[in-house]
Amino acid sequence: MVTKQQKLCPEVIKFLSSAPKKMLINGEFVESLSGKTFDTINPATEELIVKVYEADKEDINRAVNAARTAFEGCWKKVTPYQRQQLLFKLADLIEKHGEEFAELESLNNGKAIKEARALDVPFTVEHIRYYAGWATKIHGETISVSCGNYFNYTLREPVGVVGQIIPWNFPLIMAAWKIAAAIACGCCVVLKPAEQTPLTALRLGELIMEAGFPEGVINICPGFGPTSGAALAAHMDVDKVAFTGETSTGREIVKASAFNLKRVSLELGGKSPNIVFKDGDIDAAAQGAFNAVFFNQGQVCCAGSRLFVEKPVYEELTSKLASIINKIKVGTGLDLETDMGPVVSHDQFKKVLEYLEIGKKEGAKAVCGGSKVNDPNLQKGYFVEPTLFTNATNKMRVAREEIFGPVICAIPFTDIDEVVTQANDTVYGLGAGIWTKDIKKAHRVANVLKAGTVWINCYSAFDVASPFGGCKQSGYGRECGKDALDLYTQIKSVWVNLD
Ligand code: ADP
Repeated sequence: MVTKQQKLCPEVIKFLSSAPKKMLINGEFVESLSGKTFDTINPATEELIVKVYEADKEDINRAVNAARTAFEGCWKKVTPYQRQQLLFKLADLIEKHGEEFAELESLNNGKAIKEARALDVPFTVEHIRYYAGWATKIHGETISVSCGNYFNYTLREPVGVVGQIIPWNFPLIMAAWKIAAAIACGCCVVLKPAEQTPLTALRLGELIMEAGFPEGVINICPGFGPTSGAALAAHMDVDKVAFTGETSTGREIVKASAFNLKRVSLELGGKSPNIVFKDGDIDAAAQGAFNAVFFNQGQVCCAGSRLFVEKPVYEELTSKLASIINKIKVGTGLDLETDMGPVVSHDQFKKVLEYLEIGKKEGAKAVCGGSKVNDPNLQKGYFVEPTLFTNATNKMRVAREEIFGPVICAIPFTDIDEVVTQANDTVYGLGAGIWTKDIKKAHRVANVLKAGTVWINCYSAFDVASPFGGCKQSGYGRECGKDALDLYTQIKSVWVNLD
């Protein structure tokens, strides 16, 4: 039974009452040129939240032109210090309106409101403040050359107009990850939110204008991948595309980028190994294995969805993990008692349920969950049972393919070499976890795992200062930390003849 349902605050009701929601182009909220709209659905009820104007190729064109005009014009006159102040102002405004963002995110994405309040909103604010700090600290170098009497220095310049395409799992955080670093570096932005979750990005657009960003510097155009996303990726006047999403979409983006050889950074899928050795702290590892998968309904690219457990502690660890999973309260995101909401969309719901059937057919045993939620109060909405598969092997499809849902596969192993081989036997390379009290073993394994991030005796630790990204088919480029500045700047070498 839905108990303490959060009532939407008046600001959210007001935001939703002006519909269809318009896109932000050149400092104004405008309709799509085609007049087309699409539905934004509440995944907890399958009901329409609000209609949104749908950007397609022509709207992307308008937005790119606006970004180009701003980049070559007004934005060039804005100093690093002023960029910093704009970002600080934006962060302050998001903080001030934090509750609205938490409610909108929960309503649109399905996530538990307590998670949105504790994580999505504060992490967004912190992220923007961090890059505000960088805006005044980006510079080139002087270089001692030996080829003659020259003074040689480098300028670190913004790459220009950037297209940013984001997914639906952390809509607000992803918008902040993309926009903040680009703006700190002096770029102009066209952001395309995911079609499932455009609402917090559009509210963010309102605050961007309130913060005083010049027109055209940040444009926000909700639309579908194959139309507006593809148009942005292929656009001849976009200098760089930053993308987070599926590996298969990443491939399309790379192909589209070839037209004008724009720069690309990709944060893609994963099937991350989380390895528990018998000498690890088993209680902590069970909790860590849980945290690695079950927040945000398991819709996390670096989810530790392949849980490798050394045979002598396999039973103990999986039964401890099962008892933690069994305590999860699944419900609508806006229910204050909910730990885990619905998955984001009907497509995602179908996909996860299909994988649950595939796993069972392959011989994995669902010791927790294994199907859609049976609660009669949750028959509308995309509610999936949090699932623990034991008896899994690394060869099963459920252990090889990204499910992007609340599903974990526990796979037993016998020794280090075997587990490292299996952990690396995947096309992905995003995250990895290791649980052991043996410090030498921990570092040895961290060294040989092919992943962009390795967590030792923890999982899903994140900080805006620490770089995040993948290797292999999980993508390239790093977001967060100072490494993200490389995505949005390019180096110019200047020579001065001193003779
Ligand atoms: P998912 O299938 O989980 O939604 P996607 O990779 O398809 O993941 O979506 C992530 C983002 O990529 C979304 O904003 C989506 O609209 C966009 N997208 C999807 N297909 C394309 C494409 N062909 N070109 C550019 N963007 C795309």
